[in-house]
Order: sequence, then C-alpha cells, then structure tokens
Amino acid sequence: MDFELTQEQRMIQDACRTFSRQRILPNARQWDIDEAYPRELLHELAKLGFLGVPVPEQYGGTGLDYLSEALVFEEIGYADSSVRTTLSVQMSLVELTVLKWGSEAQRQQYLPPLCKGDWVGCFGLTEPGAGSDAGSLSTRAVRQGGDWLLSGQKVWISNGTWADLAIIFAQTDPSQKHKGLVAFLVDTKTPGFHAQKMKGKLGLRASDTGELFLENVRVPDSARLGEIGEGFKIAMSALDNGRYGVASGCVGIAQHALDCSVEYGKQRRAFNKPIAATQLVQEMLANMFVETQAARLLVYQAGMVKNRGERCTIPVSMCKYYASEVAKRAADMAIQIHGGYGYSNEYAPERLWRDARVASLYEGTSQIQQLILGRHLTGLQAFEDEQQRVLATTP
Ligand SMILES: Cc1cc2nc3c(=O)[nH]c(=O)nc-3n(C[C@H](O)[C@H](O)[C@H](O)COP(=O)(O)OP(=O)(O)OC[C@H]3O[C@@H](n4cnc5c(N)ncnc54)[C@H](O)[C@@H]3O)c2cc1C
Repeated sequence: MDFELTQEQRMIQDACRTFSRQRILPNARQWDIDEAYPRELLHELAKLGFLGVPVPEQYGGTGLDYLSEALVFEEIGYADSSVRTTLSVQMSLVELTVLKWGSEAQRQQYLPPLCKGDWVGCFGLTEPGAGSDAGSLSTRAVRQGGDWLLSGQKVWISNGTWADLAIIFAQTDPSQKHKGLVAFLVDTKTPGFHAQKMKGKLGLRASDTGELFLENVRVPDSARLGEIGEGFKIAMSALDNGRYGVASGCVGIAQHALDCSVEYGKQRRAFNKPIAATQLVQEMLANMFVETQAARLLVYQAGMVKNRGERCTIPVSMCKYYASEVAKRAADMAIQIHGGYGYSNEYAPERLWRDARVASLYEGTSQIQQLILGRHLTGLQAFEDEQQRVLATTP
C-alpha cells in the first residue's frame, strides 16, 4: 500500500496548513471564549476550495479526491475543531449526501451555493428521544396532496441556527419503523421551521449547535431526497462520509496535542533539566506520536477505499473509533505534560481536551462503532432490535 501523497494532495495540504495556522489558529481561543466564530470565514474557506473538496467542479466543487478531503479536515481540526465541525457537516453530511442521493435538479440547485459558502447546510437526524437508535425517529412526514407536512423536533444539530438548508429525516409510517423513513431538503426559511441555539457545551463552543422545531412545515414532493423508505439508508451512507471527516479532524487534534507538548516539554524545566528530557515525559510523547500516526494511517486507508468507490463502512468505523479515542488520550497527555498550565485556557491542551471529547459521541458513539466492527468480525448481532440490526449492517 502506497501512503505517499501525490503532488496535488501535498499542495492542498500545504495551502490548508498555511491558511489554518495563520487565520484560524491564532483566533481559536477567543472564538471559544466568545462561543462563535465569524460566518464570513466560510467564504474565505470557499475561495480556497476547502468547502467543496470532493464535489465535482461541474457543481461548484474543487473536484479532488477523498484523501485530499481528509488532509483539509486534519489541518482545520489541528487549528480549531469548531470550524472543522462546520466544514464536516457542510461537506461530508450535506454536500456529499445531495451529490449521492439528489436528483440532477437538486444537485444543481444546492451544491454551488453550499460550495461557495453562500449557503450553510445542517443534518437533522438526532431527536430528543432518538440518537444511537436512529431508526426510531418520531418526526413525522404526512402527505397532503402533492406536498408533505413535517412536524417534530431535532436536537444537537451542528450549524443548526446558521443553516439555510436542512436535511431532515422523518417518519412516514411508524409501523414501518426504519423502512418508513424519508429524507427532505428543507429551506430553513419555510414557515413553521424554527431553530434555537443550544448553549453550555463542554467543548466545540465556537461551533453553532441548534435545536430545530418543525410545526407543519410544508415542503413539495420535489424536496424529497431519494425514495420514500430510503431515509435510513441515506442517513447511514451520509454517516460513512461524516465519520471519516470526524476521524480526520481527530488526527489534527492529536497532532496539535503532540506538537505543543514537545515544544513545552523542551522549554519547561524541572529538577535542573527540561521536562522533555525525563523518561516518563518521553514515554507520553512516544505514545502520542505512535497513536497519532496509526490513526492517520487508518484514515488514509479509509480514504483509499473511498477513492476506489468501494463500500467503506468498516474502514470508516475503524478510523472513527480509533482516531476519536486517540484524540482524547493525546489531549489528556498534553494536559499532563503542561502540568498546571495545561488546566488553563492560556494553553492549547485545555481546549483540545474539551473539543476532543465529543468525537466519540457524535456521528455514532464509540460503542456503536464497536458494535459495527463486532458484527463484521463475528457475523453475530449485538443490536437488540431490527432497526439496530440494520444500523450495524447498512452501507
Ligand atoms: C456537539 C454535538 C453536535 C452534534 N451534531 C449533530 C448533527 O449535526 N446532527 C445530528 O443529527 N446529530 C448531532 N449530534 C448528536 C449525536 O450524533 C448524538 O448525540 C449521538 O449519536 C448519540 O446519541 P444520544 O446522545 O441520543 O445518546 P444515546 O443514543 O442515548 O446513547 C447514550 C449512551 O448509550 C450507549 N448506547 C446506546 N445504544 C447502545 C447499544 N446498543 N449498545 C451499547 N451502548 C449503547 C451510547 O454509546 C452512549 O454511550 C451532535 C451531538 C453533539 C454533542
């Protein structure tokens, strides 16, 4: 297996590193304190082609491969996971879902403004009563003539109050369970659609997270994404893209934790020598180094499978599970190496630690990834009901 990046991949990596270290990283602490970053940043990212990396040029994208997408997420994730989360949702969960499941008219309508940053997209799957068990949604879609009426509530929706376009998953027939789900492309200005900011998050504070309320939101049948009953399949295929983005961003968190620990360890002195000269600190650095690179290689492996157009659920689950756990461990070790200063937001590890924590929760918890991998290894089902059985097996 050849892990050498192509010239084109190195170019986008360099461009994204330069931009994110100059424009994002120096502001990340303040944006975290303010619990917001300027939306205008999306236009800056779009101008450099970072908002539509794997989307074909004919739809306004950059037309690069999935490894390039991972490199962008790693670099942005290194600087600020809040910005990376916005990008992941926009690119992986929304653009790639419209690209794969949308009609030609839907692609032409939505992809160019999303890739340009003129529109923000969000992905409305989770509800107050349904997270991991995504087949048991209670948001309803009721047919009325040629239209649909959508009613229900979504929680924890990244980009929720910023979004111009929401992919909303809803149930058409509760007796059908996951087979009754359908996905819609909803303009958030439609009457009956209301979004409200969720505050008080442990991390990802600069990222917009919202609760969505839908009260008889009327959408035409042309707003439907895919067929009736395909909603669950669409959600799972979107998560194969989303989890890959989360994993790539986590490699960035772990690399940042390592870099700042090496730097701090060399200049901080104790017992008359740099703490980085002590064996126990070097042990932590070595572990961070190896685990970060292992996570990166798992991401690259998944990227290669995606580039070949093959089913990627298993390599994506592997890298999402491993990289999110590695990011948490690396940020924790970075705090340890920084001692008391690691506990302060004057230094990066405190924010890295808070931001890393969500990665093993959203887009499928670590337990859900373990169950997907366990099912793959054994052929035995740990999920308890039919919907969850599909969750473990759907591409
Ligand atoms: C900051 C943030 C941003 C988010 N952004 C989005 C977004 O943009 N769009 C969106 O739709 N959602 C989003 N989410 C929601 C996220 O995807 C869910 O929180 C996640 O899927 C877990 O669902 P839950 O919170 O309902 O937990 P639950 O499903 O209630 O799980 C609680 C615990 O039980 C465990 N568990 C559940 N079932 C099993 C099982 N069968 N076996 C073993 N353990 C199990 C879980 O692993 C977890 O540890 C976001 C969440 C956060 C925190």
